[in-house]
Amino acid sequence: MTRKQAASGWVTACALLSLGTLFAPRPAAAQQAPPPLETIHVAGNVYMLQTPTAGGNIGVFVGPDGVLLVDDQFSAIPDSIVAAVAAISDAEIRFLINTHIHPDHIGGNENLAELGVLIFAHDHVRLRMLTGLRIPRRGGIAFPQPPEGARPVVTYSEAITFHLNGEQVRVFLAPPAHTDGDSFVYFSGSDVLHLGDVFRTNMYPIIDVYNGGSFSGMIEAIEIAIGLAGPDTKVIPGHGFGFTDRDGLIEVLVMMLDIRHEVTTMIVEGRTLKEVMAANLTAAYDEQWGQEATWNASDLLPIVYNEYSGR
Ligand SMILES: [Zn+2]
Repeated sequence: MTRKQAASGWVTACALLSLGTLFAPRPAAAQQAPPPLETIHVAGNVYMLQTPTAGGNIGVFVGPDGVLLVDDQFSAIPDSIVAAVAAISDAEIRFLINTHIHPDHIGGNENLAELGVLIFAHDHVRLRMLTGLRIPRRGGIAFPQPPEGARPVVTYSEAITFHLNGEQVRVFLAPPAHTDGDSFVYFSGSDVLHLGDVFRTNMYPIIDVYNGGSFSGMIEAIEIAIGLAGPDTKVIPGHGFGFTDRDGLIEVLVMMLDIRHEVTTMIVEGRTLKEVMAANLTAAYDEQWGQEATWNASDLLPIVYNEYSGR
C-alpha cells in the first residue's frame, strides 16, 4: 500500500460521502462493499482493525466481560467489525468510544447502537452531532447531520474510566488539538494508547479549525501522550499502518516543534504568509508526511501561521 493508494482511497470515500451515503440506512449500507479489515494484535487484550487505506484505525479490547471498541469508521463497516471481533472473541460487543466527531470515526455508530452497543464520547462530540458537519479537507467538506441513533448515549466533560476484563481503560479529554473533543484512550493493563486523529503516522497533523482544533494544542497533546507512554507502551494512530511506540510520538513532536519554530521565526521577522509558503520550510519532512493530496504542507502552514500571528 503506497501513500498515493491511501490518498485515492480517501478521495473515493469523499466521493461516496458527497453523495450522501455516509449515514445511509442499513439496507443501503449493506449494498456497499465493506472494506476488508486486517486484524492486528497490538498487546495484551488489545487489537486493531485496519482497512487497506489505513482509514480510521479501530481499537478492539477483548475479554470475558465483553468487548469495547474505539471508533467505527463508515456506515458500511459494522458487519465487517462484528465478523472481525467474532474471530477474536466470543464475548459480546458492549461499549464503543468515539475519539472525535469526524465521519470516518463515527460512521458505524447507528448500526452498532441497533445491535445494543452503548456509545461513549466527549460532550462536544455529541453536541456537534446535533447539526451538519464540516471537516477541513479541500477547504472544508460538508457532511449531513448524523442520524439521531448515532449519538453517544453517555458523554463526559473530562474523563471516564471503564473497569473491564481485569484492567482499567482510562478515557480522557486531550487539549484542543485535532478538534476540541479529542479523547485519548489508555488500556492500562495491556499498556496500549489509542490517540485517535491527534496522532497519525501517514501525513502531517490535521488541525480541524472548523471543530476547535489548534496546532499549539496538538503539540501539547502529543507531549501529554509522550509523558504517559513508557518504554513498552504501544501506540495506535488514528491513521497510518500498524502501531508504533513512544519513539514514534517523539518523531512527530520533533517535526511539529521544528515547523513551529521556523514559522514563528518568520512571523517575528514580519514576513507574510506568502513568504512563509515560499520558504520551503517543510522540505525535510515532505517525503515522509507531505504526500497526501488532500492534506500536505500547503494546508498545514497557513493554519500554523494564522494561529501564531493572531490572524
Ligand atoms: Zn479526524
